[in-house]
Amino acid sequence: MTIADRVENIRREIDDVCAKHHINKNKITLLAVSKTHASDAIQAAYDAGIQQFGESYLQEALEKIHTLNHLPITWHFIGPIQSNKTKLIAENFDWVQSVDRKKLLLRLSDQRPNHLPPINICIQINYFNEEQKKGAHQDELAELLDLASSLPNIKLRGLMAIPPKTGNFQQQVTQFQQIDSCFINCQQDYPQMDTLSIGMSNDLEAAIVAGSTMVRIGTALFGERK
Ligand SMILES: *Cc1c(COP(=O)(O)O)cnc(C)c1O
Repeated sequence: MTIADRVENIRREIDDVCAKHHINKNKITLLAVSKTHASDAIQAAYDAGIQQFGESYLQEALEKIHTLNHLPITWHFIGPIQSNKTKLIAENFDWVQSVDRKKLLLRLSDQRPNHLPPINICIQINYFNEEQKKGAHQDELAELLDLASSLPNIKLRGLMAIPPKTGNFQQQVTQFQQIDSCFINCQQDYPQMDTLSIGMSNDLEAAIVAGSTMVRIGTALFGERK
């Protein structure tokens, strides 16, 4: 199967899930997660109509961003962030979805170049307090949202989460629904939050059912990672 075929399959799957559950398919953004895959794979997905790409490893991402500089791609950083790398992220990405502490917000806002619009931010939440998983805990969220919404070069967009892995559909839905409730609560105070980034290759349907507005798909588009 070519990447174009896989893009078409995922689009059809999203459309089918939305139709089945009476959800407006235009609400869902497909983010292609291209980490570990080469620029020509990104080019192929772009040619098949994908415009937003997610990367997790900074050095590798910067090379691809440079190589594909001629394409109007929206780049999302979705990986763990070391605070000494925020400048390169602020200079090269349109979105950062893995922000989980105040220091990162302060640095990204400070280091965002003046000629660029504010950088779009999702707070990554470790909703189920999993050890060794990145993300802010629920009791840290209010402070982070307050700061994110007040910094000049930050545009607060939403939440990103990766819940505990399970193959059980109903359990996936239940977990995602809890995250969605948290998101809806946040929206009461910050109505500018329009993005709930949940759902990957293995739990896309459950995430959409539970209220996702952005699915982050890697393996199903590009194949297994090495
Ligand atoms: C790798 C990654 C994905 C994509 O996962 P797949 O299971 O390959 O679809 C999504 N989100 C984040 C944060 C990732 O690191």
